[in-house]
Amino acid sequence: MRKRFVLASHNGKKIAEMKAILERFSFDIIGLGEIPGAPEPEETGATFEENARIKAVSALAFTRLPAIADDSGLAVDALGGRPGVYSARFAGPDADDAENNRLLLDTLKDIPPDRRTARFVCVIALALPDGQVHTYRGEAEGVILPTPTGSGGFGYDPLFLSRDLGVSFGEADPAAKNRISHRARALQKLSAALAAEE
Ligand code: IMP
Repeated sequence: MRKRFVLASHNGKKIAEMKAILERFSFDIIGLGEIPGAPEPEETGATFEENARIKAVSALAFTRLPAIADDSGLAVDALGGRPGVYSARFAGPDADDAENNRLLLDTLKDIPPDRRTARFVCVIALALPDGQVHTYRGEAEGVILPTPTGSGGFGYDPLFLSRDLGVSFGEADPAAKNRISHRARALQKLSAALAAEE
């Protein structure tokens, strides 16, 4: 019988991206949003690992299927790793990308280019019915630009000059971003672990 996994995300874009990578395996992937009444637990963790774990364990408890969840964000060195797990709500609980980007630029306005290093982080948790939870971390290094550059992507992409690509994630070809991104790197590690299970 084919193995089935539930993806603990209600974000259609993320589910599509993760399905595309995971479907090379002989696994069926079900988005949690496709299941009526699926819970959306509060992300109360202090780390990406804790939040990914909370979401995966909640999805496993609800579906009894092995569950995969991710948590991601931007860690800026000059801010001691902030906004970190608060990336989506940096400028407030209902903040949009533009507001978060504006606050980040404002917070960094006196920080010179050589101290504006940062990384995107993605942690994927795999919760298994036997109670084991594994986490896989991917990172993408870069520098925070002084002004938004490029109109592609989402979130902090226009402010993030990728060390791998030499352009901002907002200017990058989406396929190029998806090859080297924090999410791609975490997924590669998960894929390697699942391949060993097949
Ligand atoms: P979450 O993983 O859905 O909780 O996303 C956390 C937040 O981190 C997003 O709302 C974005 O602000 C930021 N973020 C995570 N990944 C990316 C990315 O690839 N590009 C830009 N922003 C990102």
